[in-house]
Amino acid sequence: MLSKEDVIRQAQSLGFEDIGFTSAEPFDSHREVLAARQQEYGWVEEKGIALLQGTDPRNALPQAQSIIVLMSVYLRNAYPKYLEGHFGRCYLDDDRITKNGLAVKVKALRAFLQDNGIASKVPFNLPHRMAAARAGLGTFGKNGLFYSRKAARQSSWVLPITVVVDQPFEPDAPTIRMGCPDWCRNACIAACPTRALKGNAAVDPRRCISYLTYYGEGLTPRELREPMGLYVYGCDRCQNVCPRNAAWLAEQLPPNPAVDAMQADFQLEQLLGMDKAYFKNRIWPRMFYMPPEQMWRWQMNAARAMGNTRDEKYIQPLAQACQGNGDERVRAMAAWALGRIRTIKARTVLETLKASAPGLVAAEIAVAALDMPEGP
Ligand code: SF4
Ligand code: SF4
Repeated sequence: MLSKEDVIRQAQSLGFEDIGFTSAEPFDSHREVLAARQQEYGWVEEKGIALLQGTDPRNALPQAQSIIVLMSVYLRNAYPKYLEGHFGRCYLDDDRITKNGLAVKVKALRAFLQDNGIASKVPFNLPHRMAAARAGLGTFGKNGLFYSRKAARQSSWVLPITVVVDQPFEPDAPTIRMGCPDWCRNACIAACPTRALKGNAAVDPRRCISYLTYYGEGLTPRELREPMGLYVYGCDRCQNVCPRNAAWLAEQLPPNPAVDAMQADFQLEQLLGMDKAYFKNRIWPRMFYMPPEQMWRWQMNAARAMGNTRDEKYIQPLAQACQGNGDERVRAMAAWALGRIRTIKARTVLETLKASAPGLVAAEIAVAALDMPEGP
């Protein structure tokens, strides 16, 4: 029979930074929170992610006795500024499709458990942050994120992985509490541009830029376009401003050649002008929350981000998208973005497009025209 020390030794040898144990008892308090906040979280269930079911580990493994929580640091490398400016860091080295990084380590640990007669499951819908806190691996922040007790300088750049097993292990002492210093004046809440943070770790996911970039319905409402800024997929603002994360952000991390190589494919111009083949081959395997039929949302996000750069170099691709993109929501956002660049050149382009613009696009051009500089 394996001891906790055996499991810890093996997990450490595979590169997991911290390991904790908790029982397989249901996460009743978490289920109550989810049930009480159906308005904010009901959409997750609609997307097919059974969060309520995930609160009982025995739904994944009926004979479950314990949960092993493995702490993995997802920010191990220095990423190019361009990518960090437009994409949440946790998506830049995400192997959930390619399965060539973290998945290999999890698989190796499960094989080790199996070789020692232990059955395991890694349910995607188990409340992994709460499990990590129950296993004593760290505390929460008011931004709703989990802060490790030791990995990545005790920051939130971590991903807890929950392995449900059928062998009992002595649970570690829980650390279910807020770990923010008194002197921090809620920097995360103040910094959230879309007011998704409600205080005390309560998040309205429907107002979070991460949600809005990959699940938002239809044309992004006008009042959110400027606050969403340059982000195309995900958002790290509440983590970037957090003093608990400062030490790890100041680390000299080594580059990651595979992520560096993504830059060329993930340029805003490429995203706005891509076709389905490009999307399926180069984008989707790295960031997969939107299926090919929702490629328009990627393009809409790229157009909005271009507008928020206020960089004239994007006028030409935006004008092209405004006329030629097959989706009206993308064309409309391209018109908005041209208005946001707000130079004489952008105004001239919008005036040319106005004559032939239908519906949503015409409405965006009309609004943009109200805020345009006077030209010669
Ligand atoms: S990820 Fe961005 S939008 Fe979401 S809560 Fe944090 S700062 Fe707000
Ligand atoms: S910014 Fe301040 S309040 Fe927010 S999570 Fe960090 S320490 Fe806590």
